[in-house]
Amino acid sequence: RCDPRGSGCPSQLMYLNNLVVNTTYPGAQQAGTSRSSMSLPRPKSSGLLGSEGSCYESLCEQQPIGRRLFRQFLLDSNSQYAAAAKLLEDFDYWQHMEDEAKEKAKMSVLAKFCQPESRTFLFSHAGDAAEKYTSLSISNFDEAAMEHVREATRTFLKGGPFSEYLKSPFFYRFLQWKEYEKQKITRKYFYEFRTLGRGGFGEVCAVQVKHTGQMYACKKLDKRRLKTKGGERLALIEKQILEKANSRFVINLAYAYEDRTHLCLVIDLMSGGDLKFHIYDLGKRGIRMERVVYYVAQITSGILHLHSMDIVYRDMKPENVLLDAKGQCRLSDFGLAVELPKGKKICQKAGTTGYMAPEILRQENYGMSVDWWSVGCSIYEMVAARLPFKDFKEKVQNEEVTRRTLEDDCKFQHSDFDAPVKDLISHFLKKKVQNRLGCRSGDDPRNHVFFKGINFHRLEAGLAEPPWVPKPNVIYAKDMDAFRTASEVEDVKLDSKDERFFKEFSTGAVPVRWQKEMIESGTFDLLNSSDKTEMPAGSEAQ
Ligand code: ADP
Ligand code: MG
Ligand code: MG
Repeated sequence: RCDPRGSGCPSQLMYLNNLVVNTTYPGAQQAGTSRSSMSLPRPKSSGLLGSEGSCYESLCEQQPIGRRLFRQFLLDSNSQYAAAAKLLEDFDYWQHMEDEAKEKAKMSVLAKFCQPESRTFLFSHAGDAAEKYTSLSISNFDEAAMEHVREATRTFLKGGPFSEYLKSPFFYRFLQWKEYEKQKITRKYFYEFRTLGRGGFGEVCAVQVKHTGQMYACKKLDKRRLKTKGGERLALIEKQILEKANSRFVINLAYAYEDRTHLCLVIDLMSGGDLKFHIYDLGKRGIRMERVVYYVAQITSGILHLHSMDIVYRDMKPENVLLDAKGQCRLSDFGLAVELPKGKKICQKAGTTGYMAPEILRQENYGMSVDWWSVGCSIYEMVAARLPFKDFKEKVQNEEVTRRTLEDDCKFQHSDFDAPVKDLISHFLKKKVQNRLGCRSGDDPRNHVFFKGINFHRLEAGLAEPPWVPKPNVIYAKDMDAFRTASEVEDVKLDSKDERFFKEFSTGAVPVRWQKEMIESGTFDLLNSSDKTEMPAGSEAQ
């Protein structure tokens, strides 16, 4: 293993990057020899249904392993159930198609599932209602009809098939996976590699899960430092937000655990660097427009995801947008984020100078609107390599930036601003909230002409090719020497109250992310085929 402190040595850096690209799979296969003799634990008799609930959406749609096993159950049961499973699959495929291919996929669904003469006709069970579907034809089978057929299929599956599934060996297998998922996570679960950056409470380093080969970043928070600086509550908020977010445009949490000295957040590894680095530190200042459009589309989707969970980010700036190895970006660093349910407002100065909205600076009550202002500032910065109201490295008092933000018009002097980007920024930088893009009811920033080349469905599905891909042998971060060294912490004593808090924080694996890891690394297939445990008699779930 490479020494985590040997971060400056180029050959080790190369090694890390090769690992990032190559090991997820081969690493997992190597480990497979020992794993194939492994078997899944028995579920505890108390069962998981209590805590899991018996919610169809969570068990059969949202949790990746649950979704797989439910599908296997349907395919294994009878032709009717199998047809329903295939329809849902075809529907997902159709959603991400475009133009002619999309039309073709739709017609294939019509022919396969909605015509009584087809062997896979879905609605023979529907009795009289079947009539409704037999009248569907090429002329009236539009997108709304597609949605309708899908909803009808889900409604069907939620009934009989779902109750049968809960009594089947497939669901017993799911409970075994859930038991495995609850294992205690310690630092021995990971290999640790070089430091990637440093934050307020400790360093961030690359780690790899030993038995799957999956790479992650690990953000370590020094327990004593948290206590001295009163950062415990903030750490918990950050963890809870990372845990809730389930979007490809927001950093996801995979594990939360503790060791003797640190609380650890294991999150998506972003090896492409942050956007601030891309704006200022790679030769020509600024980012070219094709990339700006792509990143802003992803940022916009990420912000909409946070807002849909009633979370205000409050720290939107290029520095907090990180690129992964493929060149896709995600929002990170939720230390300032706050949850504001039911349209609640807050009046608290928070954010970074140069990105804060007028309503924050005027100390008014505010909500989600402040994030759209910061998005406007960030787009401006990506193009012009300066902020709308503050020049790059300009020595200026915060009061003056505040004055300019409240009073001055935003000027577009840089030649790289084209008409669509100017229009988009101007709409995000409206000083009055009620005029600002993203804040007026019903207006969706994604409909702006700036995004005309983006298909948001495909973007959400991860199918939109990034316009630029990080080179695997380059480190997109300032030299390690540039990271300030951590100051010594005074010797504070941790008491039982602190210990209780650390326990509450250390919840182990995050279900959706963990299950994805099991599937992507091949562990799911491997254990499912090697583990021949049958459901013990009388142990079916109640
Ligand atoms: P803080 O909240 O203390 O500022 P951050 O979450 O911003 O901590 O992390 C500190 C630094 O670590 C970042 O500026 C970045 O360089 C690096 N970093 C953070 N998260 C990741 C990640 N997921 N992948 C790669 N590097 C990261
Ligand atoms: Mg930070
Ligand atoms: Mg932070």
